[in-house]
Amino acid sequence: MYADIIVDITHEKLDKVFQYVIPPELEGTLRVGTEVIVPFGRGNKEIHGYVTGFSEKPGYDPEKMKPILGVAKDSVAIEAKLVALAAWMKEHYGGTMIQALKTVIPIKKQEKAKEKKRVCLLLGEEEGKRQLDRFLHKNQKARARLLAALLDQPEQDYDFLTKKLNVTRTVVRALEEQGMIALKSEKVFRNPIRQKEKARQLWEFTAQQQHAIHVFREDYSRGLRKTYLIYGITGSGKTEVYMEMIAEVLESGGQAIVLIPEIALTYQTVMRFYGRFGGRVSILNSRMSPGERYDQMERVKSGEVDVMIGPRSALFTPFSRLRLIVIDEEHESAYKSEQTPRYHARETAIERAKREGASVVLGSATPSLEAFYACECGRFQLLKLNTRAGEGELPEVYVEDMRKELKEGNRSIISDRLEKLIEHRLAGGEQIMLFLNRRGYAGFVSCRSCGYVVKCPHCDVSLSAHKGGRMVCHYCGHEEPQVTVCPSCGSQYMGGFRAGTQQIEELVKQKFPGARVLRMDMDTTRTKDGHEKILEAFASEEADILIGTQMIVKGHDFPNVTLVGILAADMSLYSNDYRAAERTFQLLTQAAGRAGRGKGRGEVVIQTYSPEHYSIEMAAAQDYEGFYAAEMEYRGLMGYPPVEQLLAVLMTGPDEKMLETAAKYLKEFAVRVDKKGVLQKIGPASPYVAKVSDMYRRALYLKGSDGRLLIEVKNRMEQYIEMNKGFQEMRIQFDFNPMNVF
Ligand code: ADP
Ligand code: ZN
Ligand code: ZN
Repeated sequence: MYADIIVDITHEKLDKVFQYVIPPELEGTLRVGTEVIVPFGRGNKEIHGYVTGFSEKPGYDPEKMKPILGVAKDSVAIEAKLVALAAWMKEHYGGTMIQALKTVIPIKKQEKAKEKKRVCLLLGEEEGKRQLDRFLHKNQKARARLLAALLDQPEQDYDFLTKKLNVTRTVVRALEEQGMIALKSEKVFRNPIRQKEKARQLWEFTAQQQHAIHVFREDYSRGLRKTYLIYGITGSGKTEVYMEMIAEVLESGGQAIVLIPEIALTYQTVMRFYGRFGGRVSILNSRMSPGERYDQMERVKSGEVDVMIGPRSALFTPFSRLRLIVIDEEHESAYKSEQTPRYHARETAIERAKREGASVVLGSATPSLEAFYACECGRFQLLKLNTRAGEGELPEVYVEDMRKELKEGNRSIISDRLEKLIEHRLAGGEQIMLFLNRRGYAGFVSCRSCGYVVKCPHCDVSLSAHKGGRMVCHYCGHEEPQVTVCPSCGSQYMGGFRAGTQQIEELVKQKFPGARVLRMDMDTTRTKDGHEKILEAFASEEADILIGTQMIVKGHDFPNVTLVGILAADMSLYSNDYRAAERTFQLLTQAAGRAGRGKGRGEVVIQTYSPEHYSIEMAAAQDYEGFYAAEMEYRGLMGYPPVEQLLAVLMTGPDEKMLETAAKYLKEFAVRVDKKGVLQKIGPASPYVAKVSDMYRRALYLKGSDGRLLIEVKNRMEQYIEMNKGFQEMRIQFDFNPMNVF
């Protein structure tokens, strides 16, 4: 027998399968996905690799074939099904097989499970006392201390005992060797969920919830596995519906994965699942240590866990009876990986589900155009929930034109209406959220006299003014003191244009001195659980006003919030990006959805400089379908996804000239491959941000309605790049239907 091995070197040149001989001692121990050690290259360097297949016939002279040296120590085998999924990802998203394999291995290195050791006395009381006398007589004090303690209580915790008595491992071992004591150990896997009992709420499902659950049940029991999109406004009870579906799947012996964007993965959300399914639920998140993550995988493998909740990477949980994948907030851009392979969790989930016989349930109040379009085309089934389930009506929304505000003499960041409403809420003891579509003092520093913008010397992006008079580059971290005189025209009108969360906090404290204010942004959530702590403090009404960026839009329910102010609603409209309108609509709708989730009716104030833009109009009207129609028209006109497919070829390198030439060659190559000339080829252009950390960037875009052809072009390009030395000095990555333009 021979094994096909993918070696662990990320290099396009080696992205192929190598055949090795399976030595007799390894026969029967290898499986697809096993991590092995093999001799490689002329020097027979020992490197790691993964088994991807077996064959009985050698691909070339077996005399020259090398044997596998062994199974890697502390390795974590990849499930065979996930190896196949990795191959699919490599084909669809580009990159090497080893990069794809590493994406589907949930935990890279095996970590020791925390062991709980106990020390037990094996001697009877009489014999024990005799030995104690002997130790004392020989002046072996440590041994005597240990034995005396065990005579008091014959079984004790190892860590506790050794620490308390101050005895070393050698002492314990000595007694163990003399047969006086024994060590017992049990593996304990850390359970990340702090347990708390919670009574189940008893209410009736709404007719729409019942319908969604019914459709799923009928299909599921008949063995039909489909992709569903639950298009349900915030608070319509989607989560409750997911839980019913999961219960159905668990009852039939199946397992489920629930993907939730990291920032929405709050204690509150997790507890809802835990309250329903108890210890069968586990979570993964990026704040967990490798050890904690490893433990969760062990719990999965030992069959303790049937429901895994986590962000994008939880999709690769090695369940063997996977029957359902839920993707909450499926429109979130976090579901697209930014590392090669740049896979989308939605598409990859659908592929995994197809291979393993599982259903996929997507949910969102503002579905991605991709998902809604797929429903129109009949590929997904649409399930609508358009009424709020519990208490709370949809909020009243006001759009404030900030240009008019300025003309009328209000130079503040807060409109008159918002100010009055804040006063009103503070007086009534209700809570307020102020949402800013930006991070920190993201505002660039520019000259109001000549328009000069201060840029990073390494990155070609504007520097941001931070507190303390510094200007910082958000791409590479470059810092310099804020300039007060314009380097271009010498005027003194230099300043940060737009407000950040810190500035808003200062202003709010000034205007409403009695108000208790919390701020949530990158700066205040840097510590572990920082994010959670702020949300919890606000939920328990320790503050009146919560000011924050995107982070405050997700997750927690705040029943006492009756006013949401959206400051600079259109900032996200001006990014150089074909999804800008979609992102703006989503953000505004989600932010507005935070108001009035409790008893009182909520109000929302959207402040903008472009009130006539359809993404803002439709968000104010809370009209998703209206937005969808308008945006699809634009995407169709421009040939953007989901109407057509877009392949981005991203190139980075230290030499701008060389990069330019390479980009030109790649484009010419694409023209040759696309014989019929059906693809549109854009660029190579220097992207919006042309240089990062002294590396130049170029992007080439290929558009067309034939997805297979784009994959074909990508495969041919990968070969072309591999064969030509000219590309060696640069990094070339592929991105299918990118979330934003490079
Ligand atoms: P979504 O996930 O769509 O935002 P949730 O499932 O979180 O909605 O539901 C919002 C709130 O309404 C939750 O507190 C939930 O317990 C409650 N809820 C859900 N369904 C019902 C129902 N049929 N009747 C009453 N309350 C409900
Ligand atoms: Zn100037
Ligand atoms: Zn920089």
